[in-house]
Amino acid sequence: MAAQSVDTVDVAVIGAGPAGSTAAATLAQAGRSVLVLERRRFPRFHIGESMLPYTMGLLDRIKLLDRVREQGYPVKRGAEFIFPDGDFRRVDFADQGAGRQSTTFQVERAHFDNLLAGHARDCGADLREGANVTGLVFGDDRVTGVRYEQGGQTREVRARYVLDTAGRASRISQHFKLRRTIDRLRNIAVFKHFAGLDERHNPGHEGDIQIGGHPDGWVWAIPIWPDTISVGAVMPKSVLRGREPAEVLAEHIARSTRITQRLTGTEPCSDLRIETDYCYYSDTVTGPGWLMAGDAACFLDPIFSGGVCLATVTGTEAGRTIDRALGQPHREAELMRHYGDLLKTGYDTYARIIFAYYESKYSLGRYLRGLGVDIEGAWFSRLISGDFWDERNPIAGLLREKADWDFFAPFDRVTECPVYPGAPR
Ligand SMILES: Cc1cc2nc3c(=O)[nH]c(=O)nc-3n(C[C@H](O)[C@H](O)[C@H](O)COP(=O)(O)OP(=O)(O)OC[C@H]3O[C@@H](n4cnc5c(N)ncnc54)[C@H](O)[C@@H]3O)c2cc1C
Repeated sequence: MAAQSVDTVDVAVIGAGPAGSTAAATLAQAGRSVLVLERRRFPRFHIGESMLPYTMGLLDRIKLLDRVREQGYPVKRGAEFIFPDGDFRRVDFADQGAGRQSTTFQVERAHFDNLLAGHARDCGADLREGANVTGLVFGDDRVTGVRYEQGGQTREVRARYVLDTAGRASRISQHFKLRRTIDRLRNIAVFKHFAGLDERHNPGHEGDIQIGGHPDGWVWAIPIWPDTISVGAVMPKSVLRGREPAEVLAEHIARSTRITQRLTGTEPCSDLRIETDYCYYSDTVTGPGWLMAGDAACFLDPIFSGGVCLATVTGTEAGRTIDRALGQPHREAELMRHYGDLLKTGYDTYARIIFAYYESKYSLGRYLRGLGVDIEGAWFSRLISGDFWDERNPIAGLLREKADWDFFAPFDRVTECPVYPGAPR
């Protein structure tokens, strides 16, 4: 098929998930022309339903929080971690202290992503659904656009920057073969939605996420609407091998009494789904004419619900970086380096919490107490809420000292939090 038409814009964004939509909104608000190409049509299913309070801080910064609050999503005030021996502990987001959002939401992603994409459109971005990016366009040693298919036609768009926010299907990491895996994280997730939820059966706090650890993995329970709950089982691939996924999901759910209690009277209302090979990173996240943000660049593990937080923070920061680089082309290299460092600081800190959880066999608290850390205080609650940057967080500082957990090549850590710059102690 020959390319039929060529548009020219400031920025072409590949993919309208949380990273792409927040980036597009940021750029459009700054007066840049943005074309967002999304291969599916909204509303569309996506996994990743539990938000962090820092995501609310970010949405507040980009003036979207009030709109999110109006949607009727279940309010999440904390996280309940259930240990393999049945004991449990709750992290209360209110313990973060003043100056930070103390609650967040659990969302049905089909609905939430549609809302974010609509916001990008309202801000002035040209969002085209059913537009599948098939290749990159090059010129003068830079990426200068993308090729995409829509409605049976192949088109081309020229752009001063291409931002890849296509998630796991990232075009740029495929093209430049950037993706690497981390051997210690090779998990698989099996999950379903259940209708008929009645939170009066929840032995803990209404709206909280529950995370039930057991000898072969862990189970999540996330209410995505007041009457609907998402339940999934995460395990090493070896646990599922040769077994019926539905049977394994039911067996793992049954291992956590507090979760089965909460599910009283519910019935499955979706097909069973499976996600695998979702743990990877890229050391190079920017290049001549291009950037990656969100899952396109990196994703590690869903255990602490950090994916959407990191995607919206890096999406927004990628948008700001491009806007500045368009205004001050002579600063391009410096701006790109700073953006890469900010992205790596966030994912590196999030990864260390995950490594500690798995290394201690599903108890981050036990791991940290072993290091002499006070997990009752504000810093622990902040870390679980999305505090992946602030240099003053002493718990993050301790986790960063573990050199055998390094996976990115050495980089300069960004020490100011992009969600709460200058937040009180
Ligand atoms: C099992 C599991 C559970 C998870 N649970 C949570 C959780 O509870 N909380 C949380 O915060 N995160 C969770 N995550 C992570 C979360 O799903 C992601 O981090 C998040 O969706 C990343 O957003 P994104 O915008 O970077 O990418 P995505 O949300 O994946 O969006 C990418 C978009 O790009 C589009 N696209 C792809 N290729 C093309 C192309 N060629 N052309 C055009 N468009 C394209 C896709 O259709 C998609 O809409 C979980 C992940 C997994 C695997």
